[in-house]
Amino acid sequence: MTASTLTPAPRPHPGRGATAYDETAPIHTYTAAGSALQRAGTTDYPAWLTHVRAAAGCTRPIRLVGAIDTIDGATGERLSRAHTVGMPDAAIYKACGNRRARVCPGCAGTYQADAYQLLRAGLVGGKGVPDTVSRHPAVFATLTAPGFGTVHARTVRKHTCTNRRRCDCRPEPCHARRDTGLCEHHRPAVCWARHEPTDAVLGQPLCLDCYQYDHQVVWNLMAGELWRRTKQAAERFLARLAKTRGIRTVPIVTSTGKIRRLPPVRISHGKAAEFQARGAVHFHALLRLDGVNPADPTAVVPPPAGITTVDLEDAIRHAVEQVAFHTPEHPDMPGGWPITWGEQVDVRHISLTGRGEVTDGMVAGYLAKYATKSTEATGHTSTRLDADTVGHHADPDGDHTARLIDACWRLGGPTSTREADDDNDSDDGQTDEQEHHEDHTADVIRLADRPPLQRPKPGFYAPGPAASAAPTPDMPPAHTAPPSVKPALTPKPRTPRAVPSG
Ligand SMILES: [Zn+2]
Ligand SMILES: [Zn+2]
Ligand SMILES: [Zn+2]
Ligand SMILES: [Zn+2]
Repeated sequence: MTASTLTPAPRPHPGRGATAYDETAPIHTYTAAGSALQRAGTTDYPAWLTHVRAAAGCTRPIRLVGAIDTIDGATGERLSRAHTVGMPDAAIYKACGNRRARVCPGCAGTYQADAYQLLRAGLVGGKGVPDTVSRHPAVFATLTAPGFGTVHARTVRKHTCTNRRRCDCRPEPCHARRDTGLCEHHRPAVCWARHEPTDAVLGQPLCLDCYQYDHQVVWNLMAGELWRRTKQAAERFLARLAKTRGIRTVPIVTSTGKIRRLPPVRISHGKAAEFQARGAVHFHALLRLDGVNPADPTAVVPPPAGITTVDLEDAIRHAVEQVAFHTPEHPDMPGGWPITWGEQVDVRHISLTGRGEVTDGMVAGYLAKYATKSTEATGHTSTRLDADTVGHHADPDGDHTARLIDACWRLGGPTSTREADDDNDSDDGQTDEQEHHEDHTADVIRLADRPPLQRPKPGFYAPGPAASAAPTPDMPPAHTAPPSVKPALTPKPRTPRAVPSG
């Protein structure tokens, strides 16, 4: 059954389409085409068009109503006042600015174009970035999530297709094993199928009950922190490498007038997360090697000549292997969940000549595309879920997506209250079980009390200390976590490395 709250407006031309002899289809102003036709027929159409241009292309523009004052900046005197009542539609339209293509294709397209230009400028210069960046070593890295359970997969050993999007190569059997076993839930733990790229089971677990939903959703949440530590580890690796090669640190005068010595190289990055079919994210990242200007630590300057693209790749691969930590404690997982990268790491050298394996334009376009995608690949998209709507999507015994949403909702729920709440606001709708959990997690910050997540901006994150401030995950500090990098992270002797292919 469907219900509508729309009030039908009286038709302006009641005669049209009323008889069986009239061939003209009726124009319904409540349809998009009908209202566009009606709008275009009005005398103030050009003025209206100019008025709404600010939100042109936006699917769901925001309507602003009220008065606009023009104030003299020097005297504070009000020069004029305009009210939206006198404007076309009695409102000002503002584009929604949403960057998800599913929500607003128009605004997402704008964001994508901005992101492309900024990312490309980070590689070839422009938009305030010096042209000399085109000579900095740069790589394009893809980092993956680890496994959280066996899923149906399409693996092609050697592609012979020309277009990977329309791959028709013969894949390997999905999960071939000689010992045709069953899991503890008596479901087959093998799959001999050679899946087509469009196969709906791709990304689905062989057994839903075996799959580690909690671990996966926590991993997604912590992926930003994992990235931050990985970049830090890669920079430390490069700093040690510079030291062994006799490249000097750079003295910087701090704001308090003291001299601080910084490593001579650092990494700038731009990245995008891509949802895989199984619901875990991949990171695609551009990493550029920069030097340090002692006179202006924020300036983008070339790195010292002794550090190359191969070293940058080594640093990333080492960091990805070494960085491991545990999340903060959680009532459902005392000791926290272990967080590491998956085994698949791809690092490609970026060429600006157009002859290498990936060019600046390809990389910027690829990242900008993912910057406007959300969970489409998983087959699920929804607006913000709340207590009233989550029941339509979450189910601990449902399909793969329903179980993922259930895990998010269950684990992300409040696990503690502030002391003040105990005194004056005990009736906050918590169940006994949640109250019980408080004992163990008094220092976990309640979800509602956490600072709002910074809206990501396209382009490169600033190098140096500011970089760590940009992409921080919405989680309490990892106070229970062990050191982020094992001390074994030392630069290996420099060996020529072939550029990876494929
Ligand atoms: Zn929009
Ligand atoms: Zn399969
Ligand atoms: Zn192929
Ligand atoms: Zn099972």
